[in-house]
Amino acid sequence: MPAPTTATRSPRNAAPALEKLRAFEGAAPGWRPPRIELEEWEALVLPEPLVPDADLRRLADLERAALHPDGVVTYVVDRNINYSNVCTSICNFCAFYRSPGEEGGYVLEHEEIFRKVEETIALGGSGILMQGGLHPDLPLSWYTTLLAELKRRYPIHLHCFSPTEVYGLSEVTGLSWREVLVALVEAGLDSIPGGGGEILVDQVRRKRRSKVSSEEWLAIMETAHELGLPTTATMMFGHGEELAHRLQHLEKLRRLQDRTGGFIAFIPWSFQPDNTPLGKVVSTRMEGGEYLRWLAICRLYLDNVANVQVSWLTQGLDVGREGLRSGANDLGSTMIEENVIRPAGARHEATEEVLRRTIVEAGFVPMVRNAAYRRLGPGPGPGPGAGPAPGPGLCPGSARGPAVAAGGGAPGPASAGAPPGEPRFES
Ligand code: SF4
Repeated sequence: MPAPTTATRSPRNAAPALEKLRAFEGAAPGWRPPRIELEEWEALVLPEPLVPDADLRRLADLERAALHPDGVVTYVVDRNINYSNVCTSICNFCAFYRSPGEEGGYVLEHEEIFRKVEETIALGGSGILMQGGLHPDLPLSWYTTLLAELKRRYPIHLHCFSPTEVYGLSEVTGLSWREVLVALVEAGLDSIPGGGGEILVDQVRRKRRSKVSSEEWLAIMETAHELGLPTTATMMFGHGEELAHRLQHLEKLRRLQDRTGGFIAFIPWSFQPDNTPLGKVVSTRMEGGEYLRWLAICRLYLDNVANVQVSWLTQGLDVGREGLRSGANDLGSTMIEENVIRPAGARHEATEEVLRRTIVEAGFVPMVRNAAYRRLGPGPGPGPGAGPAPGPGLCPGSARGPAVAAGGGAPGPASAGAPPGEPRFES
C-alpha cells in the first residue's frame, strides 16, 4: 500500500473536493455519492477545515440517514471484562496496565469471569467485550479453554482480544497470527474489537510506544476478515497527532475495508489523559466541537463502513446526543463495567434507560443490538421507541450497496445465527 501523501490546500485542488462534498446533499437510500479521495480530504481539511462544522455535520447526518433510513439508533447491553492488566507493552497513553511483577497486577480466575458473565446476563446483557494486557506467561490454552467454556455455559456473543493481543499471543506461543486466530475461533470467538488502532501512522505510534505497527495491526485485521471473523475499527485521537495523520488513519481503514468488507463498525474516541504518562504532555481533553467535527468527517470518509458509533463514554451524553445528528447511528454500550479508560478520566455514566432517552431526544427510535450490530429488538418497553422488532438477526438499516456490509451487520460465517453480544470502549 503506497503511503498516503500530504497535499497542500489551494483553491484549485479544493474545488473538486467541495463539489463532491456537495453531492452528499443528494444522499439517499440506494444512491452513492462519489468517493472523496485522501488528497481531496486534505484539501478540505488541512490546515483547518474549509467547510463550517455545521455543514459537515449536516452532510454527515444526511449520509447517516441514507445508510440507515428507518430512523433507528442502536445500542448494546453488555460488559467489558478485563481479564488481566499485566502487560509487556508500555503505551504512554495507558493508565490501565501493570508491568509483569509490578504491584497491582492481576489475572482473573475463569470462575470470576463466569460470575461476571452471569451478572451480565441477569442484567439483560447479550455478550461481553473481553480485553486485557499482553501477558507474558498465559498460554494459549488459558484463552481457548475460557472461550470454549463460556460458549458451553452461556448463549452470549464473545467479542474479544484486539489485534494487539493477537500479536502478543503470537509472541508468547510462537504461532502465526493466523494460527492464533484459528485457535480462538475454534474455541468460540465471535468477533474481535478494534483496540490498539489508535492512529495508524507509525511516526505517531512510535511516540506513543505502541508495540504493534500500523501495518501489523492492519494485517492482523485482514487475516481475521479472511477467516470470516467480523471486527470493529477505532480511532483514538486528540493526543498530539497532526490532522493529516487522522486522515491517513481513515484512508488505511477504508482501503482495507474495500478489500475485505470485514469492519462492521467504526468508533472514534478521544484521548483521556488522567494518570497516563502522556497526560503530563497532553493534559487537555478534546472539546465536544472538535470531536463532533471529526465524527462527521469520519462518517463521510468511511463510505464503506455501515455503522459509526459516537463515544458518549469519553465525550458525555450531551455530545453523544449531538453525535447522533452528526453521522453516528449507534450509541455504544451501557457499560456495565469498564476498567481501562475510566482510570484515565472517562467518568461519564449512563443506564440503559438514559441511553434510550438520549436516543429519543435526538429524534430516533432506540433498538438493542448485539456485538455483530444485529438488531435484537426494541428493548425494554413500553416506552419511547418500543415497537415491533425487525426480522431475526436482520439490520434493515443499510440500504447502500455492496461496498457496505450487507445489512449493516457482521459478514461471514462467524456471524451466521450469532447469539447476542457486542463491544464498546476499544482501546
Ligand atoms: S494500551 Fe494495551 S497494550 Fe498498551 S500498555 Fe495498555 S494494556 Fe498494554
